[in-house]
Amino acid sequence: MLRAGIVVTGTEVLTGRVADANGPWLSEHLREVGVDVAHICVCGDRKEDLLAQLQFLTDQDVDIIVTSGGLGPTADDMTLPTVAEFAGTTLIFDADLEAAIMDRLRPMANRWENVDWEALRVGIAKQALVPAQGQVLDPVGTAPGAIMSTDKVVIVVLPGPPHELQRMWPSAVDAAPFRALVGEDAAAIEQTTLRLYGITEPDIAETLRLAEDDLGSLAALEITTCLRRSEVEVVTRFEPSARSVWESLYEFIHSRHGSALFSSDGWTVDEVVAGLLHGRRLAVAESCTAGLLGARLADVPGSSAYFLGGIISYANDVKIGQLHVDPQLLADHGAVSPQVAEAMADGALAALGADIAVSTTGVAGPGGGSADKPVGTVCFCVKTAAGERAELRVVIPGNRNQIRERATTVALHLLRRLLQR
Ligand code: ATP
Ligand code: MG
Repeated sequence: MLRAGIVVTGTEVLTGRVADANGPWLSEHLREVGVDVAHICVCGDRKEDLLAQLQFLTDQDVDIIVTSGGLGPTADDMTLPTVAEFAGTTLIFDADLEAAIMDRLRPMANRWENVDWEALRVGIAKQALVPAQGQVLDPVGTAPGAIMSTDKVVIVVLPGPPHELQRMWPSAVDAAPFRALVGEDAAAIEQTTLRLYGITEPDIAETLRLAEDDLGSLAALEITTCLRRSEVEVVTRFEPSARSVWESLYEFIHSRHGSALFSSDGWTVDEVVAGLLHGRRLAVAESCTAGLLGARLADVPGSSAYFLGGIISYANDVKIGQLHVDPQLLADHGAVSPQVAEAMADGALAALGADIAVSTTGVAGPGGGSADKPVGTVCFCVKTAAGERAELRVVIPGNRNQIRERATTVALHLLRRLLQR
């Protein structure tokens, strides 16, 4: 299998001021065309450091290096000349490209105040330098990308702004030097994603071990498992010829974990819930998650078709005033109790005129825990206008952020289970 290395450049990424969006994105998309990513390196805007990483990756025998960033017009943008030097080629001026970039910038620059046209021209002239040997990738913004090769490795040079990099990617994949390596049928590698809730990573490891005993070798499948958002994710990649091995494995996992397996087509629980609602309208009443659940529901494109909104009832006064939770219930059982969770769900159904409501109330910590309600205790209730109900009380491990985040996942699965009844 082909191997790649990614070099993410930019002092802002190296220092953590900007979180790297390009490394993971490229890694995912290289996999889609059948290329395994061996390393993601990050370096600042320094020529020696970039050269060192290109050398390191070459020494690791990768077939492809993809760089991101440093293609702009300013002095700290030095990726192109540095890669050209590494590939043993020079940069030449492309007058047509200069004119094209100028055409693109002129309407924008005309709207700016105090444009320094001279500086702009210098910047554009710099961006119109392209490798003498190699391929130019048309600019998405103002910077062209490029593909250059050494005798050992093909180097794809892409811009730093994530939307520019992502839009340039298809032309990089289609370019002759990339295609020559990857081949036409690279995209034929299949990838499946299973998601399970309510089992642990050791459980799935055990299942995979038993599957190997039962079905024979699974060597044709590349299986990775991980825990994400409290769910076990099983990603499997295989050549089309190994589809029947995958199908047997799927049956095996399904037979052991049928009730935990909630998605076999890559859908997230958010999307599964959206599909199960069938137009019924959803409301939330959130205490400890205070908006996180609503935000997650609204993350799904098209959620306005079923998600009405909610009430962030963090304070007891809001639970009483907006959700009409009986003060006596709060006094008798405390805010974190199944009784109050149900009253909150009832309140959201009534206040928003919803068909289904989900409530959360819990102790996110670090303070506020007690012997019978330790930090992490969260009560959930899902209720329909017709009176169907699902409730849950759990103790969620982790710090404040983790407890609040994980509670949204628990709530969505409780909702899913009620909808699947
Ligand atoms: P420009 O012409 O905008 O300067 P460039 O190709 O030179 O493009 P950089 O200067 O490296 O790219 O980055 C420009 C901006 O793009 C950064 O300030 C940052 O906001 C964003 N960016 C760059 N690299 C990344 C990355 N790996 N992840 C997320 N954002 C990034
Ligand atoms: Mg730049």
